[in-house]
Amino acid sequence: MKKRVAVLGATGSIGKSAMDVLRDQKDRFQPVLLTAHSDAKGLLKLKDEFPAALTALANNVAAESAQFDFSGKDGLLNAIAGAKADITVNGISGAAGLEPSAAAINAGSNLALANKETIVMAGRIIFALAKEKNVRIIPVDSEHSAIFKLIEAHGKDNVAEIILTASGGPFREYSPERLSGVTPKEALAHPTWNMGPKITVDSATLANKGLEVIEAAGLFGFPPEKINVAIHPQSIVHSMVRLKDGAVYAQMSKPDMRLPIHEALTWPETVYSPFGVLDFTSLSLTFEKPDLEKIPMLALAYRALSSGGNLSIAYNAANEIAVEAFLKEKIKFLEIPRIVGYVLDTSENSGKNLESVEAILAADREARKAAEDFIWSKK
Ligand code: NAD
Ligand code: MG
Repeated sequence: MKKRVAVLGATGSIGKSAMDVLRDQKDRFQPVLLTAHSDAKGLLKLKDEFPAALTALANNVAAESAQFDFSGKDGLLNAIAGAKADITVNGISGAAGLEPSAAAINAGSNLALANKETIVMAGRIIFALAKEKNVRIIPVDSEHSAIFKLIEAHGKDNVAEIILTASGGPFREYSPERLSGVTPKEALAHPTWNMGPKITVDSATLANKGLEVIEAAGLFGFPPEKINVAIHPQSIVHSMVRLKDGAVYAQMSKPDMRLPIHEALTWPETVYSPFGVLDFTSLSLTFEKPDLEKIPMLALAYRALSSGGNLSIAYNAANEIAVEAFLKEKIKFLEIPRIVGYVLDTSENSGKNLESVEAILAADREARKAAEDFIWSKK
């Protein structure tokens, strides 16, 4: 029997990689639901290629929405509820991925999770729901995919430290003066990975690594002091674990998201894949300490994680608003951490654990508004 696979955000960077994995393993996987937000053209192409799959366009203002089985946000959630997927790839960008993750789990589908915001915003609730519905969450983010496999191989009780690697982004060697003038175009040119615009800017500020530290804490249950970051500009080592005895184990492959997606979709088996194979004869790998001061997004993430409660939600929401404003050239690059720092300072009830997706979305809206007000107050 083929595995029934839903791909949320099928027209994005993760979604395209996921479709490649499905094409590569046609006898193993059956696409049952493909979704997009506003790229109707991209989704129509996929509909032609996979006519048996349901389709949903999450943005119902698009004139093209009538061409799909479902439209609008409620349509997307209904599609997920009815798709009968064995596993759902969530490649939606940002906080908009949270409710679709919950809908997939509620429908009894395992989750191949690229949308890190699901865990950053609602890790505890999502894991409780997954336990109740007896479904598995398998990380797709390359670092977390690596750690998932390393913990599986070595046993969680033997792991003393998680070491997340980070490329350091395109501005690793820039001086603070040079950083203050960087443009969206420069921030969107990532040296090793080809990704969507939001996560590419986050790689340049290290906010992506900040979100991933919070994601690792939520996925694997490690405290902040046992999750460390090493800058590794070649993006070959995708992460490492140090065991109690001091030995460090690493996962290495080419920087190609198709491999972690393939691994999540084929888990718990290990199946041949054409993606990610390395030629070691030409490799030279380096590691260095992250700079926590030049662009303080990583330091702010540790602060949010250590304070608990809804500060991680505020960190993510304020950063989404700030990155959007930077991409629209409304603010300068170095204003991104200033806005996020301000919103963390002003977020209320920071120590409180929120108990529902609705309460989390309310905290998300509050932090977005604080970030927007701060941006406008400066104009
Ligand atoms: P992207 O911008 O390329 O694609 C986003 C997809 O989500 C698109 O298909 C879009 O139609 C859909 N989408 C956007 N807003 C939506 C909404 N409101 N409702 C429903 N669908 C919506 O983004 P991406 O780079 O593929 O990243 C997706 C997620 O995966 C992010 O959480 C990111 O952090 C994570 N991730 C990405 C990569 C990567 O290599 N791109 C690596 C690791 C983790
Ligand atoms: Mg990553």
